[in-house]
Amino acid sequence: MRGLEEIKIKVIACTDCELCKTRTNAVPGTGDANAKVMFVGEAPGRTEDVRGEPFVGAAGKKLTAMLEKHGIPRSSVYITNVVKCRPPNNRVPLESERLSCDKYLQGEIDAINPKIICILGNTASNSILGQAEITKNHGKLLEKDGRKYFLTFHPAAIIYNQELGKVMDSDIRVLAELLMR
Ligand code: URA
Repeated sequence: MRGLEEIKIKVIACTDCELCKTRTNAVPGTGDANAKVMFVGEAPGRTEDVRGEPFVGAAGKKLTAMLEKHGIPRSSVYITNVVKCRPPNNRVPLESERLSCDKYLQGEIDAINPKIICILGNTASNSILGQAEITKNHGKLLEKDGRKYFLTFHPAAIIYNQELGKVMDSDIRVLAELLMR
């Protein structure tokens, strides 16, 4: 799989796991194909499932506001999820679902070739890096297989936790500085 358009078409028609039976819409990534930074979340929530777009619900609004605050327009980034279809009741995606969807994420990463991949939360961290220690590694840039990964919290975690919101805010400031280098 090469171009983003090809990936999008395949994601929308995908029936490779059981999530296709309960989704309203599959949710391919969206954003700038030349983005310097790509954000990876867990899986679509209810609003995303209805609209077919990632991070357009409450967590997405938090993320967008924080990016814009630090001079990163949402239109300049690419945003996607580990799993492209909503798991029933927003449960954490199963390993089999993540593995089944991995070809799309890898295709997006290869097509965009971003300077930094920003991992949002433990599910993405666990799936991509094989570690789930966001509390220990947030705000850090890690390297794996020649790619740079920046870790921070999932924006859903900060909706009702102002203190965590401040920590994530300072992570995003660090990310903005890294992107300017
Ligand atoms: N949470 C995610 O992980 N992804 C979305 O697209 C929305 C909420």
